[in-house]
Amino acid sequence: MSRILTNDNDNEIQTVQQSYDDFILDFKADPSITILSKNSLSLLHEYAQLNGQKLSFQVISQFGQSHQPIFAVAVLLDDRQFSAEFASTKRDACIEAAYKVFYQLSLDARQSQRFITKNDCTLFDRIASEILSTYRDLCISVLLELIGCKVLAGFVLEKTDKQTFTVISLATGNKCAGGSVLSPKGLVVHDSHAEQLARRGFIRYLYGQLDSFRKNTESIFEKADNEKLILKSTIRIHFYTSFAPCGDSALFTPRDKITEASIKDEHQLYRTARVQGQLRSKIENGEGTIPTDSKHTILSLDAIANGKHVRHMSCSDKIFSWNVLGIQGALLSNIIQPIYLHSITIGFPFHYGHLCRALCCRLQDYFNSNSLSEPYRLNHPLIGHTKLQWKEENHRNNNNNSYDSLNWNINDKTIELIEPSLGKRKPNNEPSRLCKSEIFQLYKNIYATNNKTYDQIKKSSVIYQQCKYQMFHGFELYYSTGWISKDPCLSMFM
Ligand SMILES: [Zn+2]
Ligand SMILES: [Zn+2]
Repeated sequence: MSRILTNDNDNEIQTVQQSYDDFILDFKADPSITILSKNSLSLLHEYAQLNGQKLSFQVISQFGQSHQPIFAVAVLLDDRQFSAEFASTKRDACIEAAYKVFYQLSLDARQSQRFITKNDCTLFDRIASEILSTYRDLCISVLLELIGCKVLAGFVLEKTDKQTFTVISLATGNKCAGGSVLSPKGLVVHDSHAEQLARRGFIRYLYGQLDSFRKNTESIFEKADNEKLILKSTIRIHFYTSFAPCGDSALFTPRDKITEASIKDEHQLYRTARVQGQLRSKIENGEGTIPTDSKHTILSLDAIANGKHVRHMSCSDKIFSWNVLGIQGALLSNIIQPIYLHSITIGFPFHYGHLCRALCCRLQDYFNSNSLSEPYRLNHPLIGHTKLQWKEENHRNNNNNSYDSLNWNINDKTIELIEPSLGKRKPNNEPSRLCKSEIFQLYKNIYATNNKTYDQIKKSSVIYQQCKYQMFHGFELYYSTGWISKDPCLSMFM
């Protein structure tokens, strides 16, 4: 999936693409997609309805012996006839034919929206283009329009010496799990918002890179001055999300026009209302956010058992924490220096001031007088808008009530679907590869834990933890809102 920029004389970004055959093979081998293929008939009907197209199936021929017939069925979408598929029953031939139509439609989308020209291409357009192209390469865009997904997010790795951009992970989703399914064994993904799943996918990639480093093969890491590892100076990490992250970034009023900034513009603390800057939590099963209580709280399992709603911090707040603590999380902070984002690209709605405030500038004054312990710092990534849009209109009009989240990363190479209300992988309700327990397993595969729990290993990143509490304190002091942490009982597993 990596793309190589051509020299300045060329107008287009060349792409390295898988051959059609490989692509079909990969796609068919993916168990998540097989589920979709079984539903291809009904999905194709929905697709045609959504796009106002007339759909019909034609039996073009029937051959073989009478007790062992073979049917050839082709799909007609308006006037377009797709190639026929063969099976021993009419129904199976229809299913195969419908499935094939999805391939073709996805390939069409790839052809028509593949390139962006260099002349009108900002860094932000380029990052968005990488994610959107990979997403289309995965042959899922057409199917995803039908599974009701609304937000797409992903991470891109740039090698500045080779001028390459590689999509590391991407995910879709905008729902969370309810209180009744939380797992003390770390087997449930609590927050299936696209931004959070994409980050977990990125972390799986980091473990792959740490393993490569340990084996002395090529890796994005090198030894830092202290005992830890650090990203090579030629590596930059970029983040994309199709929507302004939920919470403080998305507090728009009709008076707020979209404002953009050039890449050289300074960050600014833009604030027009008292509520702006506050920590907010996601509402269970809903799409909105509400301000948190005035102090840091721990949401106990007892309280949840007694009917208190689970509250997950908004994506704006979590991304803010990436700009303080890094994107690697507490576990990996034992091993590596914090990894900070170089840029954040956002689709819609976009307001430069609101986004700078929400994603990094909110506590600038506080950290000026309460500086973080090195190597931690308040990171101000480049923040920019992309005009490359994901097709939002269809999603709005889509009444399909399933809100599966999808994730892909370059390490695992397969697509996984998560049922967000359960926080488990579809179709068998098994633990997702992104749940805490699976991530901890990756850690244990490389590093000794001496029978310590997940919680204990996280807490052994002492400076990370100090900085985290310092950040919590800043929010209480400046915005009278407190971070909501999950009950430590949910992290006591080994
Ligand atoms: Zn969110
Ligand atoms: Zn900033």
